[in-house]
Amino acid sequence: MNTTLYTRRSFLDTSIRLGVSSATVYAFSALSSCTSKQKQEEKSEEKVATNQAERKLGIALVGLGKYASEQLAPALQETQQCYLAGIVTGTPDKADKWKKKYNIPEKNVYNYQTFDQIKDNPDIDIVYVVLPNALHKEYVVRAAQAGKHVICEKPMAITVDECDAMIDACRKTGKLLSIGYRLHFDPYNLEMMKLGKEKTFGKIKLVIAEDGMKDVDGWRLDKTLAGGGALVDVGIYCVQGVCYTTGLEPVAVTAKEGPKKDKKKFASIEESLTWEMEMPDGTVAHCKSSYSEELNKLRAEAENGWFQLEPAYEYKGLKGETSSGKMDFPKVNQQARQMDDFALAVKGNRPSPVPGEMGRRDVKILQAIYESMHTGKKVELKWT
Ligand code: NDP
Repeated sequence: MNTTLYTRRSFLDTSIRLGVSSATVYAFSALSSCTSKQKQEEKSEEKVATNQAERKLGIALVGLGKYASEQLAPALQETQQCYLAGIVTGTPDKADKWKKKYNIPEKNVYNYQTFDQIKDNPDIDIVYVVLPNALHKEYVVRAAQAGKHVICEKPMAITVDECDAMIDACRKTGKLLSIGYRLHFDPYNLEMMKLGKEKTFGKIKLVIAEDGMKDVDGWRLDKTLAGGGALVDVGIYCVQGVCYTTGLEPVAVTAKEGPKKDKKKFASIEESLTWEMEMPDGTVAHCKSSYSEELNKLRAEAENGWFQLEPAYEYKGLKGETSSGKMDFPKVNQQARQMDDFALAVKGNRPSPVPGEMGRRDVKILQAIYESMHTGKKVELKWT
C-alpha cells in the first residue's frame, strides 16, 4: 500500500468532515514530497474531494403530497447545501408537472415499484420520505438498503419495533437517519430550549403544550395508515416541545380521550385527547391535542418567571414572549435550514441533532400515551 497516498486520503476524508477549505488542502499538498506524476494524481484526487465537500447534495422526495409540494420543494429552492434532484411518486401526472416545474431529468424520476433502482443513481444522496405514517418504515429501510442517507417525516413510524428496524437498516448500511423535526431549526423554539436549559427563569415547574387543527381528511382519518389520530399527527409537537423545553424525557404519562363530536369521521382514531407527562425532576406537563379545535401553544412556568410561544409550531409567524418581554427573531425557512443541516451532517460525517433515536423516543412516548388513554391508568416509561 502507498503510505503517502493512504495518509493523504485520510486527511482528505477528514478535511471533508471538518469542512477544511480548498486552500488548506492545497497548502498541505505543497508540503508533501513525491514525484510530479504522483503530485498530479493527488491534486486531482484533492479536487474531487474538495468538490465533493462543496457540492450540493441531491435530495429525492418520496410522496408528492401537500407537505412535499407546498413546503419541502419550495424550501429546496432556498437551500445552500442540497437541492431537489429527484422524485418518487405513484401519480404520473405529478411526475410530469414536477419534472417541468423543477427541471428534474427523467432519469431521476421513480415510482414505488422502481424505487430500489435509485441505488444506481449518483445524483441522489439523500432520500426524504414524506409518505403517510404507516409507509415510513418500508421506504426508510429500502432507501438505506439502496445506499442513501435518509430523512423521514414525523411521526417516525407507528411502533417502536418499526423504529428499531429503521435505525438498524441505516446503521448496517452506514447511512445517516434523521427525522423532519423542523422546529429544531427555528429560532423561537431554539430559544425555548435555551431558556429551559440555562434555567433563565429558574427551574421549570409546569409546561403547557397544546396543538390542534380542524378540517382533517384523507389517510389521517384511517388508523391503519396514520397509526393514530390527533396525537401522532399534531400532538407529537407537544411531546417534542415538553422534552426540548425541559431537556428531559418523561418517566410517566396519564391520558384521557376527549368526547367524539363526529363519531363517523373519527371512527378509527381519537378526535382529541388530554394528557399529562411527569418529568424525572418533578416538572409536570399538561398537554392537549385535537382535530376539532385550533390550538398552538408551548408555555413554561418556572420559579422566577415564564416563557412561551403562541403560535408555537407553525411554519412561520411564530410569536414568543417571556415574563421579561417579547422575543424577536428573524424570519427563517425552517425546512431549508433543516435540510441544509442534514446535508452538512452527511458531508461532515457527524450525527444529526434530530436523529432516528429521537424519533424512536417520541414514538415510545406516543405509544405510552395511547396505552394510558385505553387503560385509564398511569403508564411508566423507562429509558435504560
Ligand atoms: P398528503 O396526503 O398530502 O401526501 C401524501 C402523499 O403520499 C400522497 O400525495 C401520495 O403521493 C403518497 N402516497 C403513497 N401512498 C399513499 C397512500 N396509500 N395514501 C395516501 N397517499 C399516499 O400528506 P402530507 O404531505 O400532509 O403528509 C405526509 C407526511 O408528512 C406525513 O408523515 C406527515 O405526518 C408529514 N408532515 C409533516 C409536516 C411537518 O411539519 N414536518 C407537515 C405535514 C405533514 P404520490 O401521489 O406522489 O404518490
